[in-house]
Amino acid sequence: MIYKYFKDKKISSLGFGTMRLPTIDGNVSKIDENATFEMFDYAISKGVNYFDTAWGYHNGMSEIVVGKALKRHPRESFYLASKFPGYDVTNFGKTEEIFKKQLEKCQVEYFDFYLIHNVCEKNIEQYLDRSYGTVDYLLEQKKNGKIKHLGFSTHADFDNFLRFMNAYGEHMEFCQIQLNYLDYHFQEAKKKVEYLNERNIPIIVMEPLRGGKLANINDELFSTVKALRPNETPPSMAFRFLQSINGVLVTLSGMSSFTQVKENIQTFETNEPLTDEEISALFKLANKMTNSVPCTSCRYCTEYCPMGLDIPKLISLYNEHEFTGGGFLAPMYISTLPENKRPSACIGCRSCEAVCPQVIKISEIFSDFGTKLSK
Ligand code: SF4
Ligand code: SF4
Repeated sequence: MIYKYFKDKKISSLGFGTMRLPTIDGNVSKIDENATFEMFDYAISKGVNYFDTAWGYHNGMSEIVVGKALKRHPRESFYLASKFPGYDVTNFGKTEEIFKKQLEKCQVEYFDFYLIHNVCEKNIEQYLDRSYGTVDYLLEQKKNGKIKHLGFSTHADFDNFLRFMNAYGEHMEFCQIQLNYLDYHFQEAKKKVEYLNERNIPIIVMEPLRGGKLANINDELFSTVKALRPNETPPSMAFRFLQSINGVLVTLSGMSSFTQVKENIQTFETNEPLTDEEISALFKLANKMTNSVPCTSCRYCTEYCPMGLDIPKLISLYNEHEFTGGGFLAPMYISTLPENKRPSACIGCRSCEAVCPQVIKISEIFSDFGTKLSK
């Protein structure tokens, strides 16, 4: 196992994410405890020592089962991370109640790592409103020894990421972002990585395989990458990409089966960063996978839109929506926009299309997007 150093801790590069644990009868609330114990025991025996859970995973059951699984091991043999569920804004004002319950559910006296969960467009105002006292309460718990290290996870766009950092960056010891070779450009992950590197803030990676999409790439599409590294698979190449990114402390993988645990551990036995040529091949592959509408963000069109729509941003969200088959990011972001800035506000005048060098049928795309979002 590859290890990285963070302050006084030696942490496994592969972290065990617990959002997709094995379940019984396909019921997300019914975690298969025996299978989970077996996976945890094997992971620990192979040197994995970082485990990541959260209040909302498996409808609240992840923290309970993770607590039971880890209770069977000495407390000092693992690092446990959980998160404040600010993705649900009704939880603001309940930080103390939730935090105490989390310690109880996980059967621990303290969290090694504690995160503010998913800072995003939906909840940034609540975080910036100090009257809720969320971050202040967590800082107090750090002083009390109940939190060893405080950080945050985020799916926010870069501007809102910065707003949070400007307010609380001095207290954030690490940051968890969605990072993989597809989102490096697609979701501004590169900008976040560069910003965090400049400030020496370690990165914890979530969604390294984009919810499994990067693990299941057809042979034809993957062939140019395979030609460069014949022994690697789609998932191992995605992990090798992350081994090539400066500042990555832990890569979390939400493992659902014993086979996945074994394969991932095998990949993290060795550090084999990619060459520039290999990275470039992955970016080309990502482009093919995500660029269903080939907008280059030149912004020539925006000044011609009578509705003042942020056309390239909406197209990138459309691409995200198409790629994930809906997913949560695009609907979440669109829901934070005023009605008159959403795709459905397009009046079909086609002024934008007259100047688009990529000849994109923007009005048709927005009509399609509006219909899909309303379903
Ligand atoms: S077609 Fe829609 S997006 Fe294009 S300029 Fe007209 S209102 Fe704006
Ligand atoms: S003009 Fe075309 S390519 Fe340029 S930002 Fe607008 S939609 Fe995208």
